[in-house]
Amino acid sequence: MDEDQLLKSCVVILRMIVQDAMSEASLTGKVIQSLHRSLGEVSSDVSNTIQGSQAQFEQRQAGNEQLKRDIIHIEEAVSESSSLEALKEQTQFRVEKLVTTLSEQQSNDQQGQEALMALLSSMQSRIDTLQQQTSVYKKKLAEQAMQSRTDPLTRLPNRQAYNERLEAAFIKFKENGDLLAVAVVDIDHFKSINDRFGHAAGDKTLQVVSKFLKQSLSENDFIARWGGEEFVMLLPQAQMADIDKKLNEVRTKLAAMPFKFKQEKVKITASFGATCFNDNDTTETVFERADEYLYKAKRNGRNLVVTDLSTDL
Ligand code: GH3
Ligand code: MG
Ligand code: MG
Repeated sequence: MDEDQLLKSCVVILRMIVQDAMSEASLTGKVIQSLHRSLGEVSSDVSNTIQGSQAQFEQRQAGNEQLKRDIIHIEEAVSESSSLEALKEQTQFRVEKLVTTLSEQQSNDQQGQEALMALLSSMQSRIDTLQQQTSVYKKKLAEQAMQSRTDPLTRLPNRQAYNERLEAAFIKFKENGDLLAVAVVDIDHFKSINDRFGHAAGDKTLQVVSKFLKQSLSENDFIARWGGEEFVMLLPQAQMADIDKKLNEVRTKLAAMPFKFKQEKVKITASFGATCFNDNDTTETVFERADEYLYKAKRNGRNLVVTDLSTDL
């Protein structure tokens, strides 16, 4: 690449950096303005230097023409001079002009070179600033994205995160028919915890139960707080018999966990509804079925797991 192409390519790359940063939605107007300003400065530096180097090129061409003329004059002097003395004089004069042209040329080249170096180093520092600005904001955006998908009380993923995860899992299920199940969990008589021991005790219970449920699941499983004292799980690549067994283990372990409020031992239990995706299901129909099972569990005395296999209920 020649200089002009190189500089233009730099600007194209910078534009791409900025566009990439801006495409991550919700960058604040201030940041966009600042990125835009930095890019504008680089762009105007580059166009100034391109203009400068065009002028320099023209100057060099004019210098070359002058050199050619000087040499032709010397040749003419050699062929036309009548005396050695006149030739000597003519040659001396022409050589002096030649030296002047050459040294002007040299200083012109040097100035151009220095301007280019100065531009490159200022561009480099602006690129560094741009990169710092974009990486700081990318980090902030990633944090924001994380926060917007996290439930603040329990630190579990929230409903939004669940919906996104479900969409992705559902596409996979449709593509390669991988096993996928949804389970909904609801703490039993939770209102009475609030009523008897206060809202703060209720909050603490939600935190403890959330942590316990999360720890009870495998790495590939997913749990989110659906809202209130309800949770939703995505359980991939497992047969319903295994899910039924696993959820019953979770249920009995929770029921055996020692909770104590105001010196009073309290038993916390939960009800579960779980179902596998089948070919005719949508994400809504699966959730509705899991929810139906959950209410069956509630109607049948709570502290119960109801799944596709619970045909007796
Ligand atoms: P069931 O066994 O039928 O599920 O009874 P329940 O009492 O658990 O269900 P209900 O829907 O009647 O009450 C749920 C309660 O959960 C009511 C609400 O105040 C409470 N709750 C919801 N979100 C929170 C929360 O973030 N913190 C606290 N402390 N309580 C909450
Ligand atoms: Mg509920
Ligand atoms: Mg409840």
